[in-house]
Amino acid sequence: MRIDILTLFPETMERMTNESILGRAQDRGYLLIKCHNIRDYTKNKQMQVDDYPYGGGMGMVMQADPLYNCLSAVRDMAPGEVYTVYMSPQGKPFTQETAKRLAGLGRLAIVCGHYEGVDERFIEECVDEEISLGDFVLTGGEIPALAVCDAVARLTPGVLASEESFTGESHWDGTLEYPQYSRPEEWHGRSVPPILLSGDHAKVADWRRGQSLLRTKRKRPDMFERLALTEKDLKLLERAERESGGASTKSDKE
Ligand code: SAM
Repeated sequence: MRIDILTLFPETMERMTNESILGRAQDRGYLLIKCHNIRDYTKNKQMQVDDYPYGGGMGMVMQADPLYNCLSAVRDMAPGEVYTVYMSPQGKPFTQETAKRLAGLGRLAIVCGHYEGVDERFIEECVDEEISLGDFVLTGGEIPALAVCDAVARLTPGVLASEESFTGESHWDGTLEYPQYSRPEEWHGRSVPPILLSGDHAKVADWRRGQSLLRTKRKRPDMFERLALTEKDLKLLERAERESGGASTKSDKE
């Protein structure tokens, strides 16, 4: 998969996209992430990308032309349809389902706005989908674009060690993941649940399913309501509830 990010801060973005799992996936050829400076596609000497809003009002608006020129260049850089997303507080909230859908595409372009946003005519003509990171307003689309890029990239085949690395995680099947533990067996007087040390894989799987259902019910009742539980799920949940000592984190207790 190829992801192109259109931004005013390509170097800052590349520091993140070339690190760790995404960096290694690119080195191995599973993924290509390119960041492009919208400013390079202006036609004025000052490399100005913004101007005052028609009708007056606060702030500046990113002009359509540099964005259009940048996107056109990106489209020509490689073969294949480019699906264009504009990061916007007015878009649909980003979810794991959106990440799954975008990960199925061959090419994705992510446009980062700044200032008061971008000229509406660019959105009308070039954008396939507006996506929001949540119901709040940030100064620019860079942080949301990195979040989308990361969530999509890790679902791309080859990027993580196996599919299991993400199909067992929170939000894949509408549940939250079970609690995780690592060494040592005892820390600050708190022990690892003995079942995890038993070596009985079937029992561990059942325990984890019960815990996953329990935390979904407690932490995200809205998600829990949407689950279609089997008879076995109900038994595992009942056992997890019986065994649980109540809320697990400080925020759960509030
Ligand atoms: N004037 C715009 C409005 O009220 O809808 C907000 C512009 S915001 C200050 C500047 C840029 O940050 C936007 O163009 C967008 O790219 C990005 N942005 C801000 N909040 C965002 C969010 N919640 N999700 C995605 N992008 C966001």
